[in-house]
Amino acid sequence: MTKVLYPGSFDPITKGHMNIVEQASELFDEVVIAVLQNKSKSLGFFTLEERLEIIKELYKDHENIKVVQGSGAAVDLALLYECKNIIRGLRGITDYDQEVQLAMTNREISDNKVNTILLFADKEYQFISSSMVREVFGLEKDISRYVDPLVKEKMLMKRMKN
Ligand code: ADP
Repeated sequence: MTKVLYPGSFDPITKGHMNIVEQASELFDEVVIAVLQNKSKSLGFFTLEERLEIIKELYKDHENIKVVQGSGAAVDLALLYECKNIIRGLRGITDYDQEVQLAMTNREISDNKVNTILLFADKEYQFISSSMVREVFGLEKDISRYVDPLVKEKMLMKRMKN
């Protein structure tokens, strides 16, 4: 069975991420989505637990998509879940340098055990990013084009509570 790890912050998960998950699930028997702690907590929207819960809900009917939480190195999570490959998404040239650097580092620090596969989202999802969604949402504009209805609902609920 071939398994692949898709690590990210997913704050929030967007249609861009979901498009990558869909592509990965066609290439591998199982996709393990690893929800990681935000690099800079202060700029985040959802807590790790909230992100995990939302993504689990989104994929509850997909047997080949598993959602886990993680801290530390993505390569360690990949080894823990027996994934020889990590998926990362490329949005264009701006992501390129960082993702290549990450891919090379991950290969090196895993002693060549973990490889990175870069996928491209379909055209209409190419330029969506979580930070852009948070920004548009902060301006009280509609984010339906960028996220699943469940994600939008959870964001609205969180805003009401705060
Ligand atoms: P991170 O903080 O690890 O970059 P993100 O949640 O922002 O986490 O992104 C996780 C992965 O998904 C990254 O590889 C990122 O480049 C990719 N990604 C995010 N949005 C898109 C998109 N619209 N198209 C393709 N890849 C994407």
